[in-house]
Amino acid sequence: MNLKWNLDDILKKEDFGSLFEDIKKDGKILEDWVIKLKPEIGNKEFEKFLNFDEAMSIKMARLGYLPSLMESTNQKDSEAKFLQAKTEKLQLKISETAVKISMWLKGKREPILDDKNAKRLFAVIKDLEYGLKYARDKAKHSLSEEIENLIINKDMNGIGVVAELREMMETEIEYTLKIGKKIKKIKTQSELLSLTHSPKEKIRRAAYKELLTKQKKNVHKFFAAYSAIVKDWGYEAKLRKYDSPIEVRNIGNDISNEAIEELLVACKNNRDVFHNFFKWKAKELGKNKLERHDVYAPIDKKEVKIEKEVAIKLVLESLTKFCPKFGQYAKEILEAQHVDWMPKKDKRGGAFCATVTPTIKPYVLLNFMGRARDVSTLAHELGHGIHSLYAQKHYSGSQHAGLPLAETASTLAEMILFDDILEKELDPKIKKSLLSDKMGDAYATILRQNYFVLFEIEAHKIIPEGIKVEDLCKLYLNNLKEQFGSSVKIDNLFQYEWSYISHIFDSPFYCYAYNFGELLALGLYKKYRENKNLWLPRIENILEAGGSQNPQELLLKNGIDIRSKSFWNDSFEIIRSWQKQLNSL
Ligand SMILES: [Zn+2]
Repeated sequence: MNLKWNLDDILKKEDFGSLFEDIKKDGKILEDWVIKLKPEIGNKEFEKFLNFDEAMSIKMARLGYLPSLMESTNQKDSEAKFLQAKTEKLQLKISETAVKISMWLKGKREPILDDKNAKRLFAVIKDLEYGLKYARDKAKHSLSEEIENLIINKDMNGIGVVAELREMMETEIEYTLKIGKKIKKIKTQSELLSLTHSPKEKIRRAAYKELLTKQKKNVHKFFAAYSAIVKDWGYEAKLRKYDSPIEVRNIGNDISNEAIEELLVACKNNRDVFHNFFKWKAKELGKNKLERHDVYAPIDKKEVKIEKEVAIKLVLESLTKFCPKFGQYAKEILEAQHVDWMPKKDKRGGAFCATVTPTIKPYVLLNFMGRARDVSTLAHELGHGIHSLYAQKHYSGSQHAGLPLAETASTLAEMILFDDILEKELDPKIKKSLLSDKMGDAYATILRQNYFVLFEIEAHKIIPEGIKVEDLCKLYLNNLKEQFGSSVKIDNLFQYEWSYISHIFDSPFYCYAYNFGELLALGLYKKYRENKNLWLPRIENILEAGGSQNPQELLLKNGIDIRSKSFWNDSFEIIRSWQKQLNSL
């Protein structure tokens, strides 16, 4: 098997020039459409426009993805950079026209598209109806063109700079780790944070101490930045007639406030399962009580190496066992040479799955080093690809599921793999370490993220009223105390932790996407295990819909009410079963 991407399926390099010229011509045709689009336009004519728009987006996606994927495997690829710059310039030019059309569709540009005609026209292509309607509904919160432009410019030179300055402050911090007599310089925060997972307690403790001492030293600056961001967010939310600061995010995700409230409460109410885990872990580490810096301590020190072929076999077998189509789709991606496997100099880190167009099989980038978590990442990214292939019959504009459902297949794939490995593993020591890691991950993606959002809700309430930095730190410390209960001892230094959580600065209320996605997949998996015949087709329905339907309604049609407490509570049952197994081992 080839370890590198075959990008010819997107576009052969020698065909870049002709496609570029082709799109340039399309750009001119698009300008004509600006004039032709009127409220009284006929259905046939509007359909023609939508299909033209679709064909053009597909061409643009191919043109844009070729250089961007080339660049991700070699960030110093000068040819990629050249093609990228060329594409961006063309995209910018076309987006000027595209913005006019999108403003018109939203009823924000003359000749105004009224609700009645909008309804008629949007129904012309069923597959695109939801997306068009959603964009138009969301635009109810937008302001006049003049004010929107003003905000864009003010943000760019105002709050945007605040966010940039915060990031600069963070990258400028240098860390020195003192362990006994040894002193080690550490350049980046991410390097320092990786030490909080060290098997050695001394190192974990020292890493957190250094991180939080530096945050404490700069906390007034971080507070100034955070206050500005929170006040700006709240001011704009009011101006745009949102009911609350978090509603801005909820409407952005097209999920009801009600569903998010239930999610947040359910996570809070089920926190005892993690408390039990922390108590178990304390015993495992030979302590009376766990300390905050022990939360990510591994309980097994050695790591096994897994060959690529073994990883593929493990993943394909488990996916196929879950559902033959899952296995089939994953195999198609692998066989198309759409996985770039190995880490290499100048290749970007991490992993992702890119879906270019509905007819091109998705591309997966990995940095595979044979660790257990690399196998899990393989399953996760193939899961994204599987989701795209389930939804390949859609228009490109409705293939991708929005944020609330975007992690469903990927998280499911990880879960399926984990369950399979756990079932096959006979050595209780390895079983224990697998389960303990899983519980730690579940804590980090579910409870921790949930409490960030609970903190934000309070912070967005009290900051506009005028508070001191000490008040915010106190609020955070109380948030931690509630989160951990009596199961973990929390050092006072952790009151400064909020100041390094970049999401709360850069994307307020974003964090619930993590617990939402994880618990949704857990809930679906639990139901699948209880009644495969009923739930597998429903899971497939959800994936097949891609992004063509409102997520909440789509789930409801398939037996899941995310506004109900019982659904979210039920999702915790799997986590509880992991903890039960841990207790019995
Ligand atoms: Zn993902």
